[in-house]
Amino acid sequence: MEIVITVVTYVLFFALGSVIGSFLNVVAYRVPIKESLIKGRSHCTTCGKQILNRDLIPVFSWIFLRGKCRFCKNKISPRYMIVELISGLSYLAAYAILGFSLKLAFAAVLFPVLIVLSLWDIDRQEIPYTCSIIIGVLGIISLVISIFTADMPWYEHLIGAAIVAVPFAILAFLGAMGGGDVQLMAAAGLLLGWSIVPAALIGILLGAVGGIIVKVVTKNNVICFGPYLSVGIAVGYLFGSQIISAYLGLMG
Ligand SMILES: [Zn+2]
Repeated sequence: MEIVITVVTYVLFFALGSVIGSFLNVVAYRVPIKESLIKGRSHCTTCGKQILNRDLIPVFSWIFLRGKCRFCKNKISPRYMIVELISGLSYLAAYAILGFSLKLAFAAVLFPVLIVLSLWDIDRQEIPYTCSIIIGVLGIISLVISIFTADMPWYEHLIGAAIVAVPFAILAFLGAMGGGDVQLMAAAGLLLGWSIVPAALIGILLGAVGGIIVKVVTKNNVICFGPYLSVGIAVGYLFGSQIISAYLGLMG
């Protein structure tokens, strides 16, 4: 019986995450063109026809329709489905790793914000200030909570805010990095504490590899660091303390 409950809970977390991912697609598409988030139903961007209720199921609808509009048969970008899938998997992973906890509640906000800022950075080479502010607010709340709990010494949140953001700020000053990246890492550091160090290293490593691949495949020089840093932050948030203790263990 217990296994059934576990599986059902996993499925529910994936479903919740993918529905939120579907909303994140709307946010990333409509906010920049100043369309209302709640007014107006989703429609095909080619023929303008409203999307039927039964075709609004995250991930699966896109697969059933083989990535085509039901009416005009034009291709619907797999991006929407991929975002829903990633969002669903991020919720599933957060629950599987963190269980029902305060950290899970923070992840439920952090992960969607990371997804939106990544989409925004891919589209506009800019990380929205609002996203970093939201993550910073999560960091301040967790700092205040840590004064009363044994989770992490409160000052480690402040160390986290500075330890990566300061070198990033120097890189930004030299023009090697955008100001949005610095704000993001300062805000995420406030939330993650020391875990921001592995987060930044993973982000930089992925950014270097990904940047080369993107450059070779698309032949353009656009660099957006946001998605790579976001993956780093998510991994750091979920596994940061394990990575740090494994590293310290290796050091003896
Ligand atoms: Zn259409």
